Amino acid sequence: MNEFVERLISFGWREPRPSYDVVIIGGGGHGLATAYYLATRHGITNVAVLERSYIGSGNSGRNTTVIRANYGIPEAVRFYQHSIELYQTLEDETGRDLMHLQKGLLWIAHSELGVRAERARAAINTAFGAKTEFVTPEEIARICPQIDLSGGGVWPVQGATYHPEGATARHDRVVWAYAEGAMRLGAHVHQRTPVTGLLMDGDRVIGVETPRGPISAGVVMSAVGGHVSGLAAMAGLRLPIRSHPLQAFVTNHYQRQFDPIVSSSDLLFYTSQTPRGEMLMGAEIDRQPSYSYRSGHHFIQQTAFRAITLLPFLRDLRVLRQWTGICDMSPDYSPVMSATPVEGFYVTTGWGTWGFKAIPAGGEGMAGLIATGEPPELIAPFSLDRFAKDRTLADRGSAGTH
Ligand SMILES: Cc1cc2nc3c(=O)[nH]c(=O)nc-3n(C[C@H](O)[C@H](O)[C@H](O)COP(=O)(O)OP(=O)(O)OC[C@H]3O[C@@H](n4cnc5c(N)ncnc54)[C@H](O)[C@@H]3O)c2cc1C
Repeated sequence: MNEFVERLISFGWREPRPSYDVVIIGGGGHGLATAYYLATRHGITNVAVLERSYIGSGNSGRNTTVIRANYGIPEAVRFYQHSIELYQTLEDETGRDLMHLQKGLLWIAHSELGVRAERARAAINTAFGAKTEFVTPEEIARICPQIDLSGGGVWPVQGATYHPEGATARHDRVVWAYAEGAMRLGAHVHQRTPVTGLLMDGDRVIGVETPRGPISAGVVMSAVGGHVSGLAAMAGLRLPIRSHPLQAFVTNHYQRQFDPIVSSSDLLFYTSQTPRGEMLMGAEIDRQPSYSYRSGHHFIQQTAFRAITLLPFLRDLRVLRQWTGICDMSPDYSPVMSATPVEGFYVTTGWGTWGFKAIPAGGEGMAGLIATGEPPELIAPFSLDRFAKDRTLADRGSAGTH
């Protein structure tokens, strides 16, 4: 948070109270959006969001900002389509310029198998409310003339799905808008306040421990991104989550305009142009689970090599910055928005490499669950007990490269 933003946005920082109705651990997009929707949709404002560092310091401030709903299973298509629609009206609702840009998204197929997968994606998206159509190489060339349709002679472009509502938004502004909106209605956000333990009364969570003292709570929600395993362990809970680093990088300014977001499942990368003109590149998670924020040359080398195959102009650009976030990966690539077997303890997790687009719908859903005790229809399939009941929601379409 810099001084410029602090002056522009009216955050009302307060001292922590000894007790709140709801304590949310983690000041990323999901924690802050839940506080915002508790206040705006349910009138629940005796709420604190506790953030160990500064708000948006986790993955919500480190992602590649792709917003889309072209997922692979009905439950996900419906949920993410709702999130896209909430994003489309979020600037009006919060009164903040979030730099939301509808760009359209091309998902390129380079083989007969890839074409079949993209046709299936278009069919399931259309059936469950997301706009996605199959397009030919000629149409691809019209939408994005920079694409080399021969794929460097090795990965010929055979077709793609086009998802016109695919968008991007400035990630930290989304975080700040939710924080400001929640605080304006009375919620508290406490930065530099790590939760170091949970207060338990038998099997029930009744508050949190922090270096600023204990805080009691009617309900505690964990929204700590890739650090959820340690946090859940404080409640004696083992979650089906592994934490993997995910890296990204941006190049220097590309002078021409590059309109859509472009992704390829065979070449395992995706890219879009930032409002500053940089080319923003993402790819796969690091295979080894870890909490390391170190970024590596191997990632740039592999991603750049594959991206240049499809977009030769990238060859002339330079890498400006590279960074890493720690992603909470679920075994079925779907999120977990749920009550838990520990009374009073809720989790929003499993956001992996795909949770930025879900911030509005995820926050709204968790607020509904906490306020009413019942999961709203859109998030009900994503409960934690789906693993025990063998009702997993396998969806490789969650990752930006599948
Ligand atoms: C490189 C990269 C690219 C990505 N690209 C995309 C994309 O294009 N589109 C997309 O939809 N998603 C993308 N994602 C995923 C997306 O960023 C995340 O899923 C999403 O931001 C998760 O939000 P969150 O609020 O759950 O977690 P976070 O934003 O990580 O917030 C968790 C917060 O909890 C805090 N915390 C942790 N432990 C404690 C504690 N003990 N006490 C208090 N606070 C604590 C952390 O400091 C952090 O601020 C990407 C992620 C990465 C890393």
